[in-house]
Amino acid sequence: MRSGLSGKVYLVGAGPGDPELISVKAMRLIQSADVILYDRLVNKELLRYRASHAQLIYCGKAPGAHAMSQLSIQQTLMQHARQGSTVVRLKGGDPLVFGRGAEEAIELAEHGIDCEIVPGITAAIGAAASSGIPLTHRGYAASFACVTGSRCHGGSPPIRWDLLAHGVDTLAVYMGVSELPAIREQLLLYGKSASTPVALIENGTTPDQRILISTLADIHAIAAAHSLQNPAIIIIGEVVRIRGQLLAAQEQALILIG
Ligand code: SAH
Repeated sequence: MRSGLSGKVYLVGAGPGDPELISVKAMRLIQSADVILYDRLVNKELLRYRASHAQLIYCGKAPGAHAMSQLSIQQTLMQHARQGSTVVRLKGGDPLVFGRGAEEAIELAEHGIDCEIVPGITAAIGAAASSGIPLTHRGYAASFACVTGSRCHGGSPPIRWDLLAHGVDTLAVYMGVSELPAIREQLLLYGKSASTPVALIENGTTPDQRILISTLADIHAIAAAHSLQNPAIIIIGEVVRIRGQLLAAQEQALILIG
């Protein structure tokens, strides 16, 4: 605790699941924080690196079961910062990708509290790499978009599936498990080919990672048959086809190193 000084809040990205996929800066902050507020999708192993005096506060938001309201998270951050503490707000992936990090940072700024954002590897990037799918590739995809599949993304404009169906080569859909049938229907409605390959990546970058590959035509049935669970990313696009080649290249690299 830095008594006599005003504290600071760091909004820190913990990465996509594998605890080694965190930045050096984020790790240093975990080691030096007085207080750590952490989310549900943060790998708990990372908390072992905290200082012995550090206070841990869980503020996870499972669908329908919030440990803390957004308001009380905000109040807790401010309360500790005002007491002079170094506060780490640890979020899964990147704090600014569907993480409400911007809302928290703006609120802190409005209350005159010093805040810094430390980026993390977002789930789409992590899960794509660990499943051997390049989000862009010369000849297959010149663009990718991160899209929320959740309809209850409070207040934001409706998702333009009509434009996404054709304007972006690779779609990485977050929070889309329960909405998968509706997402599929929208994309087909707007003329996306039923033969477009789709990958569902559950628990990406972790030992529990599961990958289901199919096409837009029957991905909803595959997800249901295999009881796809959160957290999962849906990758839609031709790049999914080259997964086999990339995995072979990775395996070859491993053999060469070994
Ligand atoms: N800020 C986070 C995203 C939070 S929204 C980030 O940048 O990654 C939560 C959604 O992220 C989940 O519903 C899921 O779609 C995705 N997600 C998070 N961790 C994941 C993982 N290990 N594997 C697959 N998807 C994941």
